Amino acid sequence: MKTLKNFINGEWVESKSKETMEVINPATKEVIALIPVSNKEDVDLATKAASDAFEIWKNIAVPRRARIFFKFHQLLVEHTEELGKIITMENGKSLDESIAEVKRGIENVEFATGAPTLTMGDSLSSIATDVEAANYRYPIGVVGGITPFNFPMMVPCWMFPMAITVGNTFVLKPSEKAPLLTEKLAELLQEAGLPKGVFNVVNGAKDVVNGILDHPDIKAISFVGSKAVGEYIYKRGSENLKRVQALTGAKNHTTVLNDANVKDAVKAIVSSSFGSAGERCMATSVLAVEDGIYDKFMTEFVEAVKNIKMGNGLDDGVVLGPVIRAENQERTYSYIEKGISEGADILLDGRDRTNDEGYFVGPTIFENVTTDMTIWKDEMFAPILSVMRVKNIQEAVATANKSEFANGACLFTNNASAIRYFRENIDAGMLGINLGVPAPMAFFPFSGWKSSFYGTLHANGKDSVDFYTRKKVVTARYSRADV
Ligand code: NAD
Repeated sequence: MKTLKNFINGEWVESKSKETMEVINPATKEVIALIPVSNKEDVDLATKAASDAFEIWKNIAVPRRARIFFKFHQLLVEHTEELGKIITMENGKSLDESIAEVKRGIENVEFATGAPTLTMGDSLSSIATDVEAANYRYPIGVVGGITPFNFPMMVPCWMFPMAITVGNTFVLKPSEKAPLLTEKLAELLQEAGLPKGVFNVVNGAKDVVNGILDHPDIKAISFVGSKAVGEYIYKRGSENLKRVQALTGAKNHTTVLNDANVKDAVKAIVSSSFGSAGERCMATSVLAVEDGIYDKFMTEFVEAVKNIKMGNGLDDGVVLGPVIRAENQERTYSYIEKGISEGADILLDGRDRTNDEGYFVGPTIFENVTTDMTIWKDEMFAPILSVMRVKNIQEAVATANKSEFANGACLFTNNASAIRYFRENIDAGMLGINLGVPAPMAFFPFSGWKSSFYGTLHANGKDSVDFYTRKKVVTARYSRADV
């Protein structure tokens, strides 16, 4: 059995810790690798390499840095299928979704190659008589990245391409549940010509995270993961006077109004709720359907969900893969029991389609869900959908706004006034109109609100340029007498 190594200073090195954890293919329960549970000493080595590399890398001309990422981009395109298969193997999502994820990651690299334009400063030739001012951007130093299991390619690519092209160096701690894709990214970065020490990987769990949070030479932290861990990271990182951005949990609400195109809405919401086994921070988790279309919509929707193909993501036509681990499968069952005991009506029970070859749970739909129920409140991160009947858009928005989370929200309608009402009143940072997963492209911020995000500057878009740079403003007086 292969034990992964850490990637430090351009070399694959064994962890200082002897403890390991299993990496499991959730569709087969097979152990596919072991990873070291690295410790503080490993983090210190990686940070030292990154700090030393920073002294050189920060002075490399921006277009030269970007060119390495053009090469990296080309390699990612060439390896798309291979990367997709790695994601499906370690995460369980369908190969189509994995390949789509690889492409979303590639978009981030494309965006980062714009660093020369994105990091240009501003200037004003005359702020007073013979005085001018200019604003220049500089990197901040070593950045630490901590990522979740559900997007092993896309989420790290929200972080290191931009951080590195603008001149920082990077220490990444990938999810211990899905670390294999990161190994491939490190190999391709090396092949693209990235100098040693600029990108480092330390595998492990809590101890690595704490090592990153407490290391004085790590100046900024990008985190994506659950709310509880994000809060901890935001607090401890800020206490240690670092810049922190923490993108956290979600509970996304989708509304279907009477005039919606039912066929299109059904297709989009089936995929949004049950694709990736509901383990998506932009998954539709609560569905509000307007009274006048409720029966027609639900008949077609439930029929479509019954026909979802569940299985190993490498097989053709599979939509619903396994959840990531046995404890997630157990948690999903307990949420189904909770939904029933708290009084929701179960239309489709995922326990009927369980398959023990992997951590599979079939799609579950509850209706008559109310805001006091656990299945309405909690981020379940599972293939469970809660459905509510609403009188109008106002009721749908007011109900959704009671959630502590505010990542994404979607609306299916062609009514322009309802769209405007939704946009102006819903508490969510990423909105979809007539689509199910409104994950913004790389040049827009991934802009969760409320308990879905802690910090000021989000990942991606101009926010990411600001997060990974600091500014120097030069004010200069010139003498006319010298001309
Ligand atoms: P997680 O919070 O369990 O893990 C994320 C990272 O934190 C991992 O690298 C993990 O090793 C580390 N970690 C876990 N427990 C820790 C602890 N006690 N102390 C220190 N570090 C710890 O999240 P996950 O289960 O891997 O991913 C799913 C979560 O990520 C969901 O809540 C989902 O909504 C969220 N997510 C959010 C976004 C977003 O953009 N808002 C995107 C993707 C995923």
